[in-house]
Amino acid sequence: MRKLIMGIVEFREKMLPQYAEQFSKLALAQTPDALFITCSDSRVVPDLLASTHPGDLFTMRNVGNLIPPATAEGVSTGDLSEASAIEYAVLVLKVANIVVCGHSECGAMKAVQTRSAKLKAPNLDKWLYHASNAAFRLEQEGPLDGSLKPHDQLSQLNVLVQLEHLMTYPIVRQQVSAGALVLSGWWFDIAAGNMYAYERTSRTFEVIDRAMAERMVARLATRAR
Ligand SMILES: [Zn+2]
Repeated sequence: MRKLIMGIVEFREKMLPQYAEQFSKLALAQTPDALFITCSDSRVVPDLLASTHPGDLFTMRNVGNLIPPATAEGVSTGDLSEASAIEYAVLVLKVANIVVCGHSECGAMKAVQTRSAKLKAPNLDKWLYHASNAAFRLEQEGPLDGSLKPHDQLSQLNVLVQLEHLMTYPIVRQQVSAGALVLSGWWFDIAAGNMYAYERTSRTFEVIDRAMAERMVARLATRAR
């Protein structure tokens, strides 16, 4: 906690002068172009990994980067928090992209696989139910990348399952079919510090190096036309 408090002072003294103008503009409005959904894990730091700044990303984080699916009426079958963030991002901020980003060594994925009853965490147990489709799919269809550890195999499939859950929200479906919204699945490998993006054609997560990034950006430009 000391690190956190002293970090505030460090920001005030060293960084705030550089950000002052940006913050005064951002106080009037935010226009992020992406909703970034990721895990609460402390080792996943979107603004560091994507070199993003205040105002760039509308972020939603929870244990396991899960999105409870919606009913036909578009109401979440789980917690309302995720659904509210989705509604706000899509309807008010009109984001053009939603990224679901999982990561390696995810405690939530390990918990889904071990189903440990020792923890006595009834809320967490109930919450992780929203990842059970991913566990089912891993059992039935096998991993995307067999060289990964079992919990990382699950974590990659979980990203795809959560993208499907996103599509159960009528507002997301409508915007995607209108070409106004693009959903992407990303995965962060903590040990190597690499970010991967899911490629539908190859059914693999591919590292976002310069060549991959240029392909992704070119595709965005085609969509915008
Ligand atoms: Zn995690």
